[in-house]
Amino acid sequence: MTSPYIQTDVTEVPDARGYFGDFGGRFVPETLIPALDELIVAYRDAMADPAFQQRLMQLQQTYTGRPTPITYAQRLSQQLGGAQIYLKREDLAHTGAHKINNALGQALLAQRMGKQRIVAETGAGQHGVASATACALLGLECHVYMGSVDMARQQPNVFRMKLLGANVVPVESGSKTLKDAINEAIRDWVTNVRSTFYLLGSALGPHPYPMIVRDFQSVIGVEARAQMLEQVGRLPDTCIACVGGGSNAIGMFHGFRNDEDVELIGVEAGGHGVLSGEHAARFADPQIGRPGVLHGARSFVLQDSDGQIMNTHSVSAGLDYASVGPEHAYLRQIERAYYTLATDEEALEALQTLCRMEGIIPALESSHAVAEAIKRAPTMPKDAVILVNLSGRGDKDLDTVMRELKLNG
Ligand SMILES: *Cc1c(COP(=O)(O)O)cnc(C)c1O
Repeated sequence: MTSPYIQTDVTEVPDARGYFGDFGGRFVPETLIPALDELIVAYRDAMADPAFQQRLMQLQQTYTGRPTPITYAQRLSQQLGGAQIYLKREDLAHTGAHKINNALGQALLAQRMGKQRIVAETGAGQHGVASATACALLGLECHVYMGSVDMARQQPNVFRMKLLGANVVPVESGSKTLKDAINEAIRDWVTNVRSTFYLLGSALGPHPYPMIVRDFQSVIGVEARAQMLEQVGRLPDTCIACVGGGSNAIGMFHGFRNDEDVELIGVEAGGHGVLSGEHAARFADPQIGRPGVLHGARSFVLQDSDGQIMNTHSVSAGLDYASVGPEHAYLRQIERAYYTLATDEEALEALQTLCRMEGIIPALESSHAVAEAIKRAPTMPKDAVILVNLSGRGDKDLDTVMRELKLNG
């Protein structure tokens, strides 16, 4: 497929069964298998239809504001004294993050499938806001499942979703956070599968979701690759992105997948440090980060010795998840991508540095990627180039940052 917005032809994964090597698959109730099969057929059909591609491209340009620019972080690079740092500005996309790329693509797909009713899950509310936005734009009915603990923590996003016409459904089960919201969204989908489309927010879940989300987010990497060649005259040596479920990272990585000299680095949430046990670094802690199944896919999952899902911690809600998209587990296994972490403290420090050096307030999630660039740049020569995916803007995090930095009294 040669669309500037969806790149499906650069990799051998997933296979026909939805596996990325040992990871992925479809671990779901029997009743959902026909719905997943229907989705695969509809998705392939849409991808083969130039009119669908055209409509998505038009909305991405005239509504989302794509292409998002690449900014040279000149003062930051000079201060660090090593590699030159460039930022892919997903923070400038409508609704303030990359999530709209996927929400718009899936909402268009739902419309094409004749499904008027959308269910979605949300943790911090960012995917809920992106889904509510896409549904308002296309005139679809939107129900967003959200843990009641998260609703209390993320009031402005709850209000945004309501303003956008979505029905926010409080989830009172389990820890009343993202994991439980996903369970409820899946339950709703199972019950109402004929009329309902499940708009999943990251490169997670049963096949074909990790593939669909990756493809809709691949616009980030495809644009960035072309922009680097045009603006800088070369590809980056290193691409860095934060990894929650893994959608912004896989979208960026996909564009550079076949450029073997481009190093791909994913940054997980180190929370209070791996030794503290309070983190969401699925790849960094071999004690509790092991292959397992969560929410329909086999991947690396933080679990205790009985296979119970562990509670996670991160200062950034978007990275605070016990599993990770299966394609990341695969890219790590084949050593095409490498994974590291940044702690809460390092992310907060990086956030302030980017504010002061470049006049950009990044999301706390994105600040994890910035933190890794700050660590690496001084170890690289001055003619080396780092590209950081700035997945979102930090306005949503002001309360957290003020509290963490004790700026509010
Ligand atoms: C949700 C979110 C993330 C984490 O999700 P991924 O699927 O890993 O990209 C990262 N950055 C921002 C700004 C987010 O809103």
